[in-house]
Parts: sequence; C-alpha cells; structure tokens
Amino acid sequence: MMLTDLTIAAARAGLDRRDFTARALTEAHLAAIEALNPRLNAFITVTAEQALAQADAADAALRRGDGRALTGVPLAIKDLFCTAGVRTTAGSNILAPFVPPYESTVSANLLRDGAVFLGKANLDEFAMGSSNMTSAFGPVQNPWQRAQDAEAVLVPGGSSGGSAAAVAARLAMGATGTDTGGSIRQPASFCGIAGIKPTYGRCSRWGVVAFASSLDHPGPFARTVEDCAILLGAMAGHDPKDSTSADLQVPDFRAACARGVKGLRIGVPREYRADGMSAEIEALWQQGIAWLRDAGAEVVDVSLPHTKYGLATYYIVAPAEASSNLARYDGVRFGLRASGGEDLRDLYERTRAEGFGAEVRRRVLIGTYVLSAGYYDAYYLRAQKVRALILRDFTEAFAEVDALLTPTTPSAAFAQGERMDDPVTMYLNDVFTVPANLAGVPAISVPAGLDGNGLPLGLQVIGRAFDEETVIAAGAAIERAAGFAAVPAIRAG
Ligand code: GLN
Repeated sequence: MMLTDLTIAAARAGLDRRDFTARALTEAHLAAIEALNPRLNAFITVTAEQALAQADAADAALRRGDGRALTGVPLAIKDLFCTAGVRTTAGSNILAPFVPPYESTVSANLLRDGAVFLGKANLDEFAMGSSNMTSAFGPVQNPWQRAQDAEAVLVPGGSSGGSAAAVAARLAMGATGTDTGGSIRQPASFCGIAGIKPTYGRCSRWGVVAFASSLDHPGPFARTVEDCAILLGAMAGHDPKDSTSADLQVPDFRAACARGVKGLRIGVPREYRADGMSAEIEALWQQGIAWLRDAGAEVVDVSLPHTKYGLATYYIVAPAEASSNLARYDGVRFGLRASGGEDLRDLYERTRAEGFGAEVRRRVLIGTYVLSAGYYDAYYLRAQKVRALILRDFTEAFAEVDALLTPTTPSAAFAQGERMDDPVTMYLNDVFTVPANLAGVPAISVPAGLDGNGLPLGLQVIGRAFDEETVIAAGAAIERAAGFAAVPAIRAG
C-alpha cells in the first residue's frame, strides 16, 4: 500500500512500529502535491522545507518515545487559519501579502500534538462560497470526475474546497476547515470524504480570519470518521483568547467511533424533504435510515418547522457580520495597500476595490444594507428572531431524539462555471447545512454512496450541543454500513 493511502490511525501505528519514518511519509505527500497540485490547485502555499523540518522533529520525538496523537502526520491547513511566519491569504487579494506573526489556536494545538503542515489550502475568498470559484488564487478542481463526462471539471464545493480536494486526492492525510454555513460538510460530501463541524465554542476561533463570528466553526476533514475524531480531539479545547470558547473537557472522540447506535433515537426531519430533491438523494437518505435501524437505532419522524427560513436567515446574519468584520481591511492595518490615493477615504476605497472580489463585495453590500438605520429592524433584527426559533426547533427535537439524519447537500458536485451567474441558486447548496450553524449544534458528513454519474454523496448527522460523540458514533455506523471504498479519478499513486 502507498503511504499516501494510509489513514491517520494506520499511519500513526506504522510510525510507532518504525515501519517507515515521518520524513518518508511527508516526502510521499510532498511528491503527490508536486505531481497533482498544478492540476488541482488545492494549495495556495506549499511549505515543503518547513514540513520536512517538522517531520524530522517528529522522527526525533518518536525515537525519544514521545509520540503524540498526530506525531508525523502531514496535514493541509485551510488558508484562513493564521500560521506564524507563513503567508495567510484568506483566498483574497487584500491579504495576499499578509504574513501573520502569530499562530491560530487550532493550528497551534495541532502542532503541539506533533502534526506536520504541508501548506495552506485554497478556499473561497474569505470563506464566502460553495464552489471555490471565488478564490483570488483560482478555482480548485474536484479530483472526482463524472463517469459519462470526464471532460467536465467539477468543483470541490466550498468554501474549504482546497482542504477537501487535498484529502480526497491523497495530497494530505487530513485538513482543517471552517464551516460558517456548510463549508466543511458540503465539500466533504462533494469530494467523498468525512468532515465534522463541531459545536460552536468547541474549537477556538482565535487566529482564524473572521467571516461571520457567530457562525464560524473550525473543524476537521479526513478520509474516515475515526481520523476526523482524532483530529478534532487535537483541535478542540478551551481557549481564554476566544471569549466564545467553551470551558469544557475534550471527550475521547476516537472512542466514540466504536460506540454503535444501539438504543439511540434518530430523528428524520420531514422539512428536509425539499421540493425537487433528486430521487438518488432521497434513496440514499432512505438507505441511511435502514442502515441505522439495522444497527439498532430507533428511527422516528420529527419536525423542524422553521427549516424553510434557514437560508434567508443565514444570508442576512452572515453578510451582516461579514460587513462588520471586513471593515478592518482598509489598507492601513493589514495586507494590501492601493497606491496613489488622494486622501484617507480615497485610500480605503481604492484598496477595497482592488482587494475584494465580486462575491465579497456583494456580501458587504448586503450586510451594510441590512444593518443600516431604517432596515435594521426589518431585516437584521427579524433574522435574529427567526434564528432563535430555528434553535428552538432543534432544542424541541432533541428532547425526543438523540440525533438527526439528513442528506448533506441537495446535489452532487457540479461543473466549474455552473450556477455562477445566479447567486441565489448557488446559495441553495447550503439548504441542509445552514440550520446547524444557526443553532451552533454539531454535525458530520460521511460519504455514503455514489450517484448515477459515479460522484460521491454524503449523509449528515446532526446532534445536541457538545454531544459530538453521538454524532461521531452515528457517523461511524453509517460509514461501516456504507462500506464506501470508491476513490477519485485524480489521486496520488
Ligand atoms: N456557502 C456558504 C456561504 O457562501 C457557507 C460558507 C461557509 O460555510 N464558510 O456563505
């Protein structure tokens, strides 16, 4: 077996047995990146030298008997996490020259546990998007291809599309992502891998470039649920530098993989049966219900009556917070500064016009509009009230059931360029994922099957706040039942 095909769990065991060195493992991934990144564009920055130095340090730690959860494991870091001394762009021209002097808490936690960083993964600009088409550093190609039409270049989903493509194509064993409205789960589903959006407050947001602060959730990608659980265990934990970080012990997420679902009550929310849902997705959902039932869960119908307002609420709250967060990019404090301005106001305007792409500008416009005097009550305040109702839906459902099962996305990966002319159609990608962000509850996407074009489709499990363990247990049960073993056309080896 190729080193790049190993899971994180298997690689750690192999490193402990000295079957291979951390250096060899890192070199195999760097070679895969060199071969495939020109095509996939999954990485904006590759830190080969740093990765090899970290791998050597990992080998030394292993020799000392000081191996930790991730010692020697090569990862991709979404280019939204600040990395000390390594350029961090957020996929935007406005941060293209930005080299942070500090390390985000999540990436620092991964380094503490011995991880090797291969580089910074491509993303939609400021994590705004579902296709990775909005990155100032060019689109990412999904390593999967349609069986009938291998010419079509598919999107990996977004915004963490580079992270998902890198893990699917075996350029990295795992990756970090952020999920504000679906940006871990949707690309995981499109690329045939697993991804967890933990509970809000489980992983620190400190040092993560802010999009919409009340909705941003850092979390992991990997090819198995167990690997995601291992990564989440390292990433999570209380951080006094983030005032919304939860002061709770980090459970043994990995142990939860083996728990099974016997005796669990799983809810199937009827409102997710969206109009026009494809027969394939409906069938996969039914299959998932059968798998969990066969594994010993009790499956019941539940209602989340405010689901239909989720997208509209999200697309008011997220741009409102984004417009405020992005006000800091003024040409004075961070990154790009436009030349030739006449006065300060002119400097701001030129810098922001040069630095921000169309989608980011659209969000800033919507956000400032819904927050402006006269419209604040009609839009922003209203959306916050509906958000409270959506949270109440989940609270009421979780009085009856332990977790919810839904599809992750309303379709499989689409082709580059599709849906770009109509932002509203693009926003429909997030219909099944945004409610969990609005409520702050944990959710996983697990690859569960292929559509008629041979493209992967994911199932989503949503759980109670701070009960990632049940989400992981149910996700692992689906993974075992699905036996998803398909691999993308474009991959290392
Ligand atoms: N697709 C959603 C958006 O464009 C979600 C993005 C995300 O989760 N970062 O806002």
